[in-house]
Amino acid sequence: MMRAMRPVIVAANWKMNTTPADAGELAATIAGRIREPGVVRIICPPFVCLAAVGAALAGEEIAVGAQDVHHELAGAYTGDTSAAMLEGLATWVIVGHSERRRDHAETDERISGKLRRAVEAGIRPILCVGEQLDEREAGRAETVVDGQLRGALAGHAPADLQAAGLVIAYEPVWAIGTGRNARGADAAAMAETIRSAIAATGWGGAAANVPVLYGGSVTAANIGEFLAEPSIDGALVGGASLKPDEIAGIVARAGLTANARLAETAAP
Ligand code: PEP
Repeated sequence: MMRAMRPVIVAANWKMNTTPADAGELAATIAGRIREPGVVRIICPPFVCLAAVGAALAGEEIAVGAQDVHHELAGAYTGDTSAAMLEGLATWVIVGHSERRRDHAETDERISGKLRRAVEAGIRPILCVGEQLDEREAGRAETVVDGQLRGALAGHAPADLQAAGLVIAYEPVWAIGTGRNARGADAAAMAETIRSAIAATGWGGAAANVPVLYGGSVTAANIGEFLAEPSIDGALVGGASLKPDEIAGIVARAGLTANARLAETAAP
């Protein structure tokens, strides 16, 4: 089992919340509550708050991420943000979030282009995948996620995405912002499906090293159910990530898993 090689990651997706005037203060408050060096911690504020959050996190081992990146290098794309524009502001980027797929008609092909831009710019991508409720109820969840992965990874050399440190977030759409989270066992089964799908795109055994996060109504109260699953490596957290008590509880629980994995690696 190669799970001990994978980091534990908690990424905060602030979505369209906070302003440049208040984001820095919130980031600083949260930073003081999530000092768990064993956990990779990322805060993804809105584009216009990236600089304020970056300044507030100076000296902290907490990374700043963007919530999206455009699939082209530059050009006539009003209102969009290129990878080059993120330089110095973000070292991570969320790609293919279901709210972007829904509200901006993002296709797997576009998402593949976004991944390419992130990789070229040296920005670490978190690729989101996940099924709709009717797809799960029809027994198609695995097929849908498999298709999203194949579409997004198409045309990418596995070595490029490995070097970029690709992370996958499994986010069942019906669980996002609804207060209705998936069961840990179902998320774990999907994490294995995800690694199998990646392996089949030419990655082979290297797919076992890809961190898979769960996202969808994660809270301090339910994070333990996901992190108890060895195939789950952390969480992409939306609503709860704006609440210092909640994100502190989530990261503290993630710290326990990180320490346990470290001890497992060190064991003779
Ligand atoms: C998300 O934004 O990716 C997310 C999972 O949101 P929430 O935690 O609010 O469901």
